[in-house]
Amino acid sequence: MKSVEAKSLASFTDSTTGVVNRAKHSDFLVAFRDCVEQKTPTDFKNKLQLFRQTYHKYGDLLAFLDREWLPYAEYFCRYSTNQFLNCGENTTSPIEGLHAQLKSYLVTSKIPVNDTFQRIVHYIDQQQILVRKRIDDEKLSRPVSLAHNFVFKDCLGTVASRALFHVRDEIDLLSKGTRFVCDHIIRTTHDIPCDCELKPFTNKLVSIDPSLFGPIWWLNPTEYPRQQSNPPDSHTTVPHVGEPQRREDMAKEQKTKGASTKAAETKEMRAIRLALKMKADKREREE
Ligand SMILES: [Zn+2]
Repeated sequence: MKSVEAKSLASFTDSTTGVVNRAKHSDFLVAFRDCVEQKTPTDFKNKLQLFRQTYHKYGDLLAFLDREWLPYAEYFCRYSTNQFLNCGENTTSPIEGLHAQLKSYLVTSKIPVNDTFQRIVHYIDQQQILVRKRIDDEKLSRPVSLAHNFVFKDCLGTVASRALFHVRDEIDLLSKGTRFVCDHIIRTTHDIPCDCELKPFTNKLVSIDPSLFGPIWWLNPTEYPRQQSNPPDSHTTVPHVGEPQRREDMAKEQKTKGASTKAAETKEMRAIRLALKMKADKREREE
């Protein structure tokens, strides 16, 4: 969006005075963002048509969007990104941040490849230590607003607080009657209970079953009840609307994928390490 913001600025600048019409520029960005946020392809198409009509006088700007952005709409528009598990991460900035952090860790690009490799491995090790520490802290933490809510009794220490806070806010909205129709999207994008799954908990007298949260939110994912394809009757106090089979498939897929990727990486990394070591040994012998 920053590129759209920067590129569109000139179209709202008076060529004689150089003064930018901030209000119009802001309206344009809001209108474009509104198109991006549409939840279905039809809504997106309709909104875009209106947008084109509104800004038909800005031919260069529309041409820029047609050339640089709209051919890739499915990669950034909500109607498409809400079809995948993304835990609410809809931008690339966190990854860009990690790349920048990794670069700063390498300090310079003018170091031998062997050293670069070792630094990257060290960086990953450090990150893993931090992540493990954070998870351990979470297992013990009891945020007041969650601990005082009976609904989360069985989830605290098992499910990440971030997911619980999200659900707490949804239950509050449901209790106030401000949510009526559930689009189930949160089940797909976050793998947490959607509004229709949360309805039984609006009276705040029943504790949510942690298995309603996908394995990605479990502080110890190995404890996630993957094998419960046929939950006992006592387990069905909660309507299982969010395609339980799909969640199990996802867990299975994640497990297989995770294991094979890890094995492949380890093998590959070991091969690189050995090759580098052999090279270094050879160089030492030659010297
Ligand atoms: Zn739903």
